[in-house]
Amino acid sequence: MDKLSYIPLGGVTKVTKNMHLYEYGDSVLIVDCGLGFADETMMGVDLLLPDITYLKNSKKKIVGMVITHGHEDHMGALPYILPDLPGDFQIFASKFTTEIANDKLKEFGVARKINFLDFGREVQIGPFKITLIRVTHSVPDTSHVFIKTPIGNFYHGSDFKFDPNPYDGKRSDIEAITSIARQGVLCLLSDCLGSEKPGKSRSESTLTIPIEEEMRNTKGKFILTTYSSNIARLNQTIDAARKLNKFVCFLGRSLIKAADLGQRIKYLNIEKSIEISIDQLKNIKDNNVVLIVAGAQGQEGSALSRIVNGDHKDVTIKPNDTVVFSADPIPGNEVSVYSLVDAICKIGARVIYSEISDAFHVSGHGTQDDLAEIMDLVSPKYLLPIGGTYRHIVSYRDIALKKGYTREQIIMPDDGLEIIFEGNKVSYGRKLPIKNVYVDQLSGEEIESFVLRDREKLSKEGIVILMIEVDASGQIFGNPNIIVKGFPSAEITKIVKGLPVELRKKLSKKSKVSDWNYERKTIGNIVERFIFYKFRRRPLVLPVVIEV
Ligand SMILES: [Zn+2]
Repeated sequence: MDKLSYIPLGGVTKVTKNMHLYEYGDSVLIVDCGLGFADETMMGVDLLLPDITYLKNSKKKIVGMVITHGHEDHMGALPYILPDLPGDFQIFASKFTTEIANDKLKEFGVARKINFLDFGREVQIGPFKITLIRVTHSVPDTSHVFIKTPIGNFYHGSDFKFDPNPYDGKRSDIEAITSIARQGVLCLLSDCLGSEKPGKSRSESTLTIPIEEEMRNTKGKFILTTYSSNIARLNQTIDAARKLNKFVCFLGRSLIKAADLGQRIKYLNIEKSIEISIDQLKNIKDNNVVLIVAGAQGQEGSALSRIVNGDHKDVTIKPNDTVVFSADPIPGNEVSVYSLVDAICKIGARVIYSEISDAFHVSGHGTQDDLAEIMDLVSPKYLLPIGGTYRHIVSYRDIALKKGYTREQIIMPDDGLEIIFEGNKVSYGRKLPIKNVYVDQLSGEEIESFVLRDREKLSKEGIVILMIEVDASGQIFGNPNIIVKGFPSAEITKIVKGLPVELRKKLSKKSKVSDWNYERKTIGNIVERFIFYKFRRRPLVLPVVIEV
């Protein structure tokens, strides 16, 4: 009988690393291609990629890809993964998502382009028909995806909240959701990250007055740090500055990039007369200055961390200044965030963070009422919570049970677990062995010093990329794939021939692997030492370790 398989390669029990497959016959539609973070305390240094072994080995054809929104955990893996995926299928996304993803691909030198797809326009991808629906979240042009398949309709409702008063005025398209629901929906896949929190989510616009008040009251500089992609938050801050006749300066690589993109596509509203560069700062009185600074997670090397630690050559924090953390620490980042907060307190400046006041940040994820509302609007036969950890999935199930859904109607997903839809029935299928794929971050988002270090190494010393399969006992499996650039060809031959031998020798006595991140570093060190010993060079070494 006709059937469709839904297989998440990531993004259903670990929040990040989103990659969802819809498989009908020989055709596969992919939704999202996101990064994971190897270790929260090392955010931005070590990354996880979705494991695409299944896509590479199966005989299925990838017919297309859709990206739901411009967050790293939904599109950040594109430059790493696209070159490895078979076929030259088309990729679709909304306007902001297309722009931010294409910038990223260009930066990485990947010759692929995302196609802009307008909200409400249906496009045929193999046996699937997809339509993007506008919803509110914490990045512009976030979309849900309505997927028509030969066996029934799916509503892919990743990250969202229902904000009735979004700062950019672009509300969730409730009408579109309702009209889609009329066509019948077999399964609603829904964001569940906010499922533990009762009530309705708070609107982005509730921040307008608190930001303006703090900005008015500060006797020194007003410094705000937030996520770079939250364009609405940047606009709120700029609008308050304009009203109070203050000048705005962006600091930090990721923020400057986001501000450039925002201005290019006219999503960020800032006129030349109020934006100032870092060189102009010294000519302006402190209480006329608003700084929007990258590094809200306390990332080492970020603009904020350098300013607070006295390492920034143009900006220091003074006792009269006000610093606002317009972001909650991501679990795992508390230590770095609070050490910055402590340091600012010591200087004597006013600092506002989530424990002091919750008026300066709202989450982009819907809470219990939002999640119940979309169930009502879509009224699907089955529910499938995504984008949370297991405890969020369980809380989501409780909401659904209260709304009268039965346990049989609520699907409990797991990474790599196939869910089969067949003639209005649902069953659990294969469990793909999903492995962890680690990679060093090349882009260096908000880690300026790493970018410089990497670029310096690349230009002077070359690069060695090593793709290696290692089993749980620490032994190398198969032949590692080695790419060497920036070395004379005689040396390349020696490296490609000698390295596998060296790695086997060094790893032969190893015991069971308990920490894959550590394992990856160990392998990196072996490569570095081998090359330094042989050629006295220190190239950028990029080990990609695949668990087998
Ligand atoms: Zn998101």
